[in-house]
Amino acid sequence: MRTTRLWVSDLSASAGAIVLNERNHHYLTRVLRAKQGAPLILFDGQGRVAEAEIQAITKQTTTVTVTTPHQSPDTRVPIVLCLSIIKPDRFDWALQKATELGASGIQPLTTCYTEGMPKGERLQKKFAHWQEILVNACEQSEHYWLPTLHPIMEFSTWLTAPRDRIVIAHPDCTVSSIPATSGLTHLLIGPEGGFTDLEVQQAIQAGAAGFSLGPRILRAETAAVVGMTLLARDLGFL
Ligand code: SAM
Repeated sequence: MRTTRLWVSDLSASAGAIVLNERNHHYLTRVLRAKQGAPLILFDGQGRVAEAEIQAITKQTTTVTVTTPHQSPDTRVPIVLCLSIIKPDRFDWALQKATELGASGIQPLTTCYTEGMPKGERLQKKFAHWQEILVNACEQSEHYWLPTLHPIMEFSTWLTAPRDRIVIAHPDCTVSSIPATSGLTHLLIGPEGGFTDLEVQQAIQAGAAGFSLGPRILRAETAAVVGMTLLARDLGFL
């Protein structure tokens, strides 16, 4: 059986004992029914990793002894998935898959055809929910680097900042491979209604390259996964 990986927000530089948070305590005791002495691997999402062992379990807390952490190399794929907000379950799914595929970052975008944009307190909760998805996906895929979750931005505003490279997935494009380069590649995926002609034009003016994902119209979340996979292949990461 593989050693359980758990994300902790703060992995101190030295060895010692730490009390796990409620989430990790619940997962170990209620889901895994882990016992004292069980080995664990803790990581902080920024590459810091440490072996650990359950020292004590009470009803409320799990305490673990942790070895001195080491820094693991950043193995993320240099792709930022820039995904328009789509229906919540579909957006969540795309985030999970992009994390499994090793995305460096996630950029949620609002576009002309974005529907159901969360606001106020709902937005804050949504953000925490997305972060939790990234953590779960990292734990599951045994990946020690979390993608950076950027704040939601409006599409044309996002385009105004300088970016290493932008690739826009659009069904009208015919180019289906992108040359490898250094730096980050930002992959733009539109909502269910697609990008407007103006948005495509704005992206091209901002230096974006068009990218085809084949002859069929894919749902946005499928396009996110296919686009990330094809780009990762082109960049030499698959
Ligand atoms: N009718 C919309 C259109 O023509 O753009 C369809 C939008 S599609 C459901 C959602 C997004 O997935 C698109 O905006 C695009 O970014 C991406 N996409 C879907 N199929 C694609 C394909 N074959 N090639 C490139 N991008 C695609």
